[in-house]
Amino acid sequence: MSSKTKTLEVTTLVSILLLAACSGPAGDGRSPATNEAVERESEMSRDPHSYARPDEVAVSHLDLDLTVDFERHVLRGRASLALDNKRGATELHLDTRQLDVERVTLDDAAAAVDFVLGEEDPILGRELVVPIDAATRVVHVDYATRPEAAALQWLAPAQTAGRHPFLFTQSQAILARTWVPCQDTPAVRMTYDATVRVPPALMAVMSAENPTARNDDGVYRFRMPQPIPSYLLALAVGDLAFAELGPRTGVYAEPPLIERAAYEFAETEDMMTAVEKLYGPYRWGRYDLLVLPPSFPFGGMENPRLTFATPTIIAGDRSLTALVAHELAHSWSGNLVTNATWNDFWLNEGFTVYLEQRIMEAVKGRDYAEMLASLSLQDLEQAIDELEPRDTHLYLDLAGRDPDEGMTDVPYNKGYFFLRMIEETVGRERFDPFLRGWFEKNAFHSRTTADFVAYLRRELVAGDAGLEKELMIDAWVYGPGLPPNVPRVHSARFDRVDGELARFRDGAPAAELATEGWTTHEWLRFLRGLPDELPAPRMAELDEAFGFTASGNSEILHAWLHHVIRNRYEPAYPTLEHFLKTVGRRKFLKPLYERLAETEEGKAWAREIYAQARPGYHAVSSSTIDEILDWQG
Ligand SMILES: [Zn+2]
Repeated sequence: MSSKTKTLEVTTLVSILLLAACSGPAGDGRSPATNEAVERESEMSRDPHSYARPDEVAVSHLDLDLTVDFERHVLRGRASLALDNKRGATELHLDTRQLDVERVTLDDAAAAVDFVLGEEDPILGRELVVPIDAATRVVHVDYATRPEAAALQWLAPAQTAGRHPFLFTQSQAILARTWVPCQDTPAVRMTYDATVRVPPALMAVMSAENPTARNDDGVYRFRMPQPIPSYLLALAVGDLAFAELGPRTGVYAEPPLIERAAYEFAETEDMMTAVEKLYGPYRWGRYDLLVLPPSFPFGGMENPRLTFATPTIIAGDRSLTALVAHELAHSWSGNLVTNATWNDFWLNEGFTVYLEQRIMEAVKGRDYAEMLASLSLQDLEQAIDELEPRDTHLYLDLAGRDPDEGMTDVPYNKGYFFLRMIEETVGRERFDPFLRGWFEKNAFHSRTTADFVAYLRRELVAGDAGLEKELMIDAWVYGPGLPPNVPRVHSARFDRVDGELARFRDGAPAAELATEGWTTHEWLRFLRGLPDELPAPRMAELDEAFGFTASGNSEILHAWLHHVIRNRYEPAYPTLEHFLKTVGRRKFLKPLYERLAETEEGKAWAREIYAQARPGYHAVSSSTIDEILDWQG
């Protein structure tokens, strides 16, 4: 089936659900049976980014057996998929991309079956159709990945902190299919077991129960007893050390980094306690972090039991650990209750930013959390300015596009402010149990935006016409930009920063500004508030007073580098070049390359740097930068 037809089906189904959900207080008048039917139907709504047909037959368990070949940059082995055949389906439709499928067998049969690989779609990859019958329990797929598989990043020893090669995966949004043939949609959940064979000097870890030490034969066995969607499948292989943080928490990193990592993330157990108090027990056993080499394209990835994190948050002073709060919060929003399609991405990210804020408030206090909220609002307003209006709705329309395009500030920060607005309107005494109930009632299920809106109207609005009007739910979820009831953020600490900024603009020397005790966030406020145009002596003065070019804090350095580019501040050019060549985090790279590409001269230099840096970036980052620099592989 072509993706276009599927898109139509999904759109129709969604409109039906929307109609059902938007019929106002009707929600609570519905019989439980009808509600269940709507919920069931919504869970089966087809995902425009997958060939799978889980409403017919769903994969309930995955058994992986993989050998990691660092010389050829290939994973080779077998994926055995256990089926829940709901309607006696005679075909299993799987997602694959950049995979070499060698052989497919059913159950214990030795004979191979004739499978069909569909045409290549540049975004979705190739559909794999396997003939089955109603009695088929397990489909075994023997396959190998390609060196260019988009989820996999193979790092040479020079790209790591140590002397060994490294491999890590990034499956979100639809890249799991580039290393495992699967139903690559967040609407399907499966448990998994895996056997992974690696060179004996290295250790393997997954989003599963993990070893804490290397073994001698290089064979690692994993078990993931909780059902997860495919985008949370994760594997990393490298020279890894482990350090305990608390009774349930720990950190993995390359040996040269492990001590700094353990210091930086020491507050993880406290965060866990804070979030459990609000949203109920942590359901995944252990929570560990894995610090990856700097080419990791994201800040963090919430792979269950083992968050993958960028080393750029190791600042030495625990000032960037809100990211840990964020990834930890995903253990509830995202991993426990999952967006059913990537159009519902805000259900993962908006909820997570909201939880992150609550954790940070509990651990560091309200005035600290308000600085974070204020920076988020600034990011969001800028994103809304730059995006097409349709892409500023909470409920996105990503059919026919790479779901990565939906990863903007909108699902994260507009989602956060929507939930905060509801919280402030009804009060925490009502909002907290409401949110906790959402996680408890929907644990280990995938949900759509319409499901949440229906739950909100049923449980919180409950027919109160005044409240319905006040919340402006439809404007937030199905409309552009920011509705007028957006919460007010007030940070007294930022007011003081703004005062110093005004003095600087009026000519006060940088060295005379009152900056004592400023945290990273105050520095970010300051850097973002500086005038766009700064003459070279003023740039030099700032640099001398505050040491921005030499900053070991990636966020501060990144904010400073914008001024460096804009004002052609040459003393910092070597630092800029080094940053672009060593850091692979897309959040930093994208705006810097965009800034460079604003001038002819800047773009030419950016292309020179990129030619050297590109092989060290993950495909998630390089596909974004390719576009900015008109790069043809
Ligand atoms: Zn997130």
